[in-house]
Amino acid sequence: MANQYHLDDETIAAIQSSNDIVDVVGEYVQLKKQGRNYFGLCPFHSENTPSFSVNQEKQIFHCFGCGKGGNVYTFLMEIEGFTFPQSVQHLAEKSGFQLDISKNAGQNDDRSASEEQSILEAYQWLAKLYHHLLYHTKDGKKGLEYLHQRGFTDETIERFQIGFSLPSKDFIVKFLEKKGYHRQLMVKAGFLITNDQTNYFDRFSGRIIFPIRNAIGKTVGFGGRSIGDQEPKYLNSPESELFQKSKLLYNFDNARSEIRKRNEVILLEGYADVLALHQAGVPNVVASLGTSFTDSQANIIRRYVETVVICFDGDKAGQNATYKTLKLLKKVGCHVKIAMLPNGYDPDQYIQEYGADDFHQTILEASASEMTFLISHLRNEYNLNQEGDRLRYVERIISEIALLDSSIERDHYLRELSDQFSLSFEALQQDLVTKLKNSEKNDDNRKNFGNTNERIHNNYQNKQKVLPAYHNAERRLIAFMLQNAHIADRVKEALGSKFNIEQHQIIVTYLYGFYEAGNQPNPSHFLTLIEDKMIQKLVVELSMLDCNWDISDRELEDYINTISAEQNGHSRIKELEREQKIMEKTDPVKAAQIAMEIIKIRQQSKRGS
Ligand SMILES: [Zn+2]
Repeated sequence: MANQYHLDDETIAAIQSSNDIVDVVGEYVQLKKQGRNYFGLCPFHSENTPSFSVNQEKQIFHCFGCGKGGNVYTFLMEIEGFTFPQSVQHLAEKSGFQLDISKNAGQNDDRSASEEQSILEAYQWLAKLYHHLLYHTKDGKKGLEYLHQRGFTDETIERFQIGFSLPSKDFIVKFLEKKGYHRQLMVKAGFLITNDQTNYFDRFSGRIIFPIRNAIGKTVGFGGRSIGDQEPKYLNSPESELFQKSKLLYNFDNARSEIRKRNEVILLEGYADVLALHQAGVPNVVASLGTSFTDSQANIIRRYVETVVICFDGDKAGQNATYKTLKLLKKVGCHVKIAMLPNGYDPDQYIQEYGADDFHQTILEASASEMTFLISHLRNEYNLNQEGDRLRYVERIISEIALLDSSIERDHYLRELSDQFSLSFEALQQDLVTKLKNSEKNDDNRKNFGNTNERIHNNYQNKQKVLPAYHNAERRLIAFMLQNAHIADRVKEALGSKFNIEQHQIIVTYLYGFYEAGNQPNPSHFLTLIEDKMIQKLVVELSMLDCNWDISDRELEDYINTISAEQNGHSRIKELEREQKIMEKTDPVKAAQIAMEIIKIRQQSKRGS
């Protein structure tokens, strides 16, 4: 794999070993240490209980749920859609290696990948340019004044790289052309608008620019806010492969480490709210990009934290959005709190008027539980002066209470409901019990970290049990060989590549070559040599098998014997089958005897001989 990209193995290995897989994966997944492995929610399939594991010692990851696995490079290829050289380049940048492989890499990429790379680079140039224009041009000063007036400090503006696009039709056209970008590409990227292929306009001209970065800190889109009477007030880059609003969260790259540290994220609606809260000393804030909160965003958040504080606008629209977002977050297993603002305020306005301290005390620290929010929010949908509506409302609240995990909490809210509407507590409880029974199925799926680990382990054991003895022997043996060159040597002498399973033959052949080249045991590095995805997956799976470090000679012999016995049995059966075919025509009795013999050998092989 390495050679086809003109990268030498040593560089690849060096970059790999200076980027611990636990750190790299940890930027995307909240990991908890459990024994020798770290566990977290798999970023590649949807799950509420963690089956995704990272082994620091072996520098590999593996998901017991969907089967994805690999090393630090494979991980980035999967999660970021990087090519192999892009993964190498990314980690090289992170760990201070000088490496420019983008030119080489281009040869192997398809056209769209290299086009995407160009657009990405153009975004980085433009973000810098816009920020520069904000501070160093006459027109930019207007934008800067506006930002200062709204209370944003230079430090905040710098931190978020806020910029300004000049009210000129073609300033950035010239700038980007000078950098070698074609107009068509700029239209495709959404920087320019054209209606007749001859006139090109800057999409954001005259607007304040909020660069929108992806999870790894690369600008992939812009949000533009008008400062005059230009319509619309907010304008985003158009959707593209790079810029998918439903899968991005504003400020996520900046806030990530604080979110993890505090195990809490505050979810907002607007860019300005993020800036305002950050400036008020609340760094663990993100926002959706001017669209409703989505499933994908909920999943991203859940991978990092359990607790989410929703702090949306205090008006009716904001509260309705809060309700929808709350439901999405609960579905992925988040614990949700609601920071409620007075009607007519958004977080930015509130802080401007009452100050940061007041916001902390009155809004954030006084965050309501989800039930308190629901009780007050759902009230708006019913006319509580009418008995029928009142009962429907109570029913609705009981359904919500039934979804709570803790019985103490359920009791608490039930009692509140009974007091408020003078209803019998026992009757409400009866109602709740019925609802709980109906939702019991869902509860069965909820398990905590510890249980999951055990469950995975059992599944794994079961899977191994059903394999024939020789198959298990090969798996165990390769697991040892991956971690011990000396064992690999002995197996090579005794068996060579004569394993019974074809995929195993391929792995050991690669492995012998890997050790012959003078490499030390290193499953993660070994993986970079293998191109086939299925084989990669298998290597990861086998590397994750827990082996006793000191395998006895006896055990080793046993494995080797089991494998070669199957091998011999296998060739003996082939031989007998040929004989049987000939005899069927001339000597049916003899043919029947041979058939019996074949059955016997097959049975022996199943028992593991
Ligand atoms: Zn998975």
